[in-house]
Amino acid sequence: MKAAVFNGIRDITIEEIEKPMPGPDDFVLKVKAAALCGSDLRTYLHGHPKIKTPHVLGHEFAGVVESVGENVTFVKVGDRVAVHPGVPCGHCYYCDRGQQNMCETRKQIGGQYPGAFAEYVNIPGKCIEVGTVVHIPEECSFEIATLGDPLVSALNGQEILNVQYGDTVLILGAGPIGYFHAMLARLKGAGNIILANRSQGRLDYAKEHNIADNYYCIGRDAKDIKPFRDYINSMTEGRGAEVVIVANTSTESARQAVQLAAKNGKVLLFAGFPKDAPELGVDGNLIHYNQLNVMGALGSTPRQYQLAEKMLFTNKINGNIMITHRIPLEEINEGFQKMIDGEGVKIVIDKF
Ligand SMILES: [Zn+2]
Ligand SMILES: [Zn+2]
Repeated sequence: MKAAVFNGIRDITIEEIEKPMPGPDDFVLKVKAAALCGSDLRTYLHGHPKIKTPHVLGHEFAGVVESVGENVTFVKVGDRVAVHPGVPCGHCYYCDRGQQNMCETRKQIGGQYPGAFAEYVNIPGKCIEVGTVVHIPEECSFEIATLGDPLVSALNGQEILNVQYGDTVLILGAGPIGYFHAMLARLKGAGNIILANRSQGRLDYAKEHNIADNYYCIGRDAKDIKPFRDYINSMTEGRGAEVVIVANTSTESARQAVQLAAKNGKVLLFAGFPKDAPELGVDGNLIHYNQLNVMGALGSTPRQYQLAEKMLFTNKINGNIMITHRIPLEEINEGFQKMIDGEGVKIVIDKF
């Protein structure tokens, strides 16, 4: 079969490799759509400690069941399905408590297992067991179903935040995750959703598609928080935002978040920070005297994944505006270059 093989930093080649055969509990999916994710880009640019090359990346995908192992009954050949890439063990301390995103031995399709930037991908039986295989209804496209993974990460963050009616929700970072946070916060009844970003392009796109209520361009090298704080104050009678979501990897953003939050506000650190410099240097007194809740979020659970896919299937979340580029597998390197250049929102491979 044809596959995009990751050989090392900035090195992906299209090669003919062996087509997977399902184990007794597994099934093999013919990939119909696979989206490029920010974490794929990070691996493409910097490598990944857990990924041994050569390897096939790709963890946001959907397709048609090609073949099934002898014990498999949940899916049959020809079924249209989406699969969450996270593979929790299903029986550790955290899995037992329904916190599979914290699983002690969690693996990932496109991480430890071969991924979906290929004609076919093997789905471990564990995915069926834990509930991360979802049938796609006829009216939903494969490309929309690929959005379940990024959407559900944001959904996990939103469940932690528990936005209240009328809240001012400030989102720092206008990538796909920032967009999803805005859409989900709107469903929760947020009063004013402010999307902020360093560059203008993604704010313009969001405005065009009415993703948030207000848009603020921070500026590329803005070091002074005052104009930003003034802007947020002007919308909140000087209080700041009840909810601030850091949906980018800059530690500067985390410092700004605690400065822009209202008293009793909630701050969510959604993204990972640079591994070599993750210290935040936030003003601890702002957290103490303003009684801030500073929280983290990582991944999602099977329950949340099923919910996220349903939101896409029923158009409660409009996935269409997220997908801006469709490319054949052969152009995957060009796709990553588009991401580096900050072009578009979601890039989906739709020809294999
Ligand atoms: Zn992803
Ligand atoms: Zn576990």
